[in-house]
Amino acid sequence: MTKAPNELTIVEAAKALQAKELTVRELWDACAAAAHAKNPELNAFLEIFEADDAAIEAAQKRIDSGEAPMLCGIPLAIKDNILIERHIASAASKMLENYTATYDATVISKLKEAGALFLGRTNMDEFAMGSSTENSAYGASKNPHDTSRVPGGSSGGSAVAVAAHLALGAYGSDTGGSIRQPAAHTGLVGFKPTYGAVSRSGLIAMGSSLDQIGPFGKTVEDAKILFDTIRGADALDATSTAADFYKPKAAGEKMRIGVPRHRLKEGVEADLLATFEAALEKLTAAGHTLVDIELPTSGYALPVYYVIMPAEVSTNLARLDGIRYGLAKRGETLLSDYVESRTAGFGAETRRRILLGTFVLSSGYIDAYYRKADRARHVLTAEYDTAFEDCDVIAFPTTPSPAFKFGEKSDPVSMYLEDVFTVTANLTGMPAISVPMGSVEREEKQLPVGVQFTAPKGGEERLFTIGKVVTD
Ligand code: GLN
Repeated sequence: MTKAPNELTIVEAAKALQAKELTVRELWDACAAAAHAKNPELNAFLEIFEADDAAIEAAQKRIDSGEAPMLCGIPLAIKDNILIERHIASAASKMLENYTATYDATVISKLKEAGALFLGRTNMDEFAMGSSTENSAYGASKNPHDTSRVPGGSSGGSAVAVAAHLALGAYGSDTGGSIRQPAAHTGLVGFKPTYGAVSRSGLIAMGSSLDQIGPFGKTVEDAKILFDTIRGADALDATSTAADFYKPKAAGEKMRIGVPRHRLKEGVEADLLATFEAALEKLTAAGHTLVDIELPTSGYALPVYYVIMPAEVSTNLARLDGIRYGLAKRGETLLSDYVESRTAGFGAETRRRILLGTFVLSSGYIDAYYRKADRARHVLTAEYDTAFEDCDVIAFPTTPSPAFKFGEKSDPVSMYLEDVFTVTANLTGMPAISVPMGSVEREEKQLPVGVQFTAPKGGEERLFTIGKVVTD
C-alpha cells in the first residue's frame, strides 16, 4: 500500500520530491488538509498557517535545480515558543496571546535557508512548564494513540503533529524532558542536544541554563537531519558552541551501554521495564555490551531540577510585567498594574513556579535552596563524567509509565515525577535521545514507550548510532 504524502518520513519525501513523484505543493496540501481535518479533535496546532506561495515555489525551483538540502519543501511544525517573524508566538499563554515576533529565531533562519516550510505553531504547556500540555491556556492536545490520554509535554502539540501525520517533522524545546517525554508517549524519536549545540536566540526562555531546542522525527535519520540543519555556534547566543567534541564511532564499532539498575528497582511500571529489558537484549544481540553502573546522586536530580528551574523561571518571566509588552491591565498604582497583569496573564502552574523560584532565590533562603541545588548539580555532573569512563552511553526508560489520562496527575508532585529520568540530561548539559522501544497495553489500547540514551557532551553521533540499532 502506498503512503499518502503526509505519512512519509522526511527521507522518503525528499527522495520522492527529487524523483519528481511528488511536488512541494502536493506535499504541502496533503499536510495542510490533514492538519485542518484532525486539529479540531487533537488540538496539536494553536494556528495553522496559510500556504506561503513564494516559499513553496522557491523550494520547488531548488529541488528542480538538483541542489536542494534534505529539508527543502518539507512542512514542519514549530512549538509556540520559537519566534517566527510576523507570526504570533504566545508560549500558549494568555500573557503573550497577541505578541507578534519581530524577528526569526536563529533556528528558523537556518530552516528558511534550507527551504523548509512552516505548517503552523504548536500547542504546549504554558511557557513550557508541564508534562502533559494540560497547562496550555488554549486546552490540552490529545494523544493520537488514545485520545483519552495526554500526549506528554511540554512540547505535546509538536509530538502530536508528527505522530498523527500532520507534519513530517517538528521542533520543540526541552528544559527537563519536554521533547523526549512526549516523543516517548507518541511513538516518535525525540532529541535533546548538548547544551549550546543549538542557538537559543529567539526561544522564549524558561530556564536559560537548561533550555535547548531539538527535533521530533518519525525515524532516527529524520531526527538527525532536523538536528544537523539547526546546530552550530551562533553570535546571538554566547552559550552556543560547535559541540562536536567526540568523533562518531566508526561504522560497526561496538559500544558499552551503562545501565544504572539500582535506579530501576521501584517506580517503573513492570511491563514498561520488560520492554526496556527487551530493547537492551536487542543491543547485546547486535554485539554491544552492557555495563552495570552506579549513579548514587541521580536520585536527587528531580528535587535539584525543581529548585534550579523555578529560580530561572521566576527571573525570566519577570520581564512580563504588563508594562514592556504582553498583556497589560491597568490598576490604581504601578504595583497594581503588575499584579493585575500577571494575575490575568499567567496560569496556575506558571504562578506556582514563579512563587517557588522567588522563594528559593530570596535572601533568607538562597543558601539553603538555590546554592545547595547548584552544588548538587555539579556533583551530579561529575558523577556522570566518571560513569562515562566505563561506558559510551547510559540507558534509561524515558518515562516511568506510558501516557496517562487527562486529569490523572492533578497533584503537581505526581506530574513532576514524570520527569524523573529526563531532567538529568538538562542539569548536566548532556545530549539525550528517546527512541520507541515498543508498546504496553492499557485498557485494550497499545501505548508506545521509549528508551532514552544519554552521551557525554558533544556525543550526539553516538546517540543516533545506538538509537538506530533499537529502531531498525
Ligand atoms: N516537565 C518538565 C517541567 O515541567 C520539563 C519541561 C520542559 O522540558 N520544558 O518543568
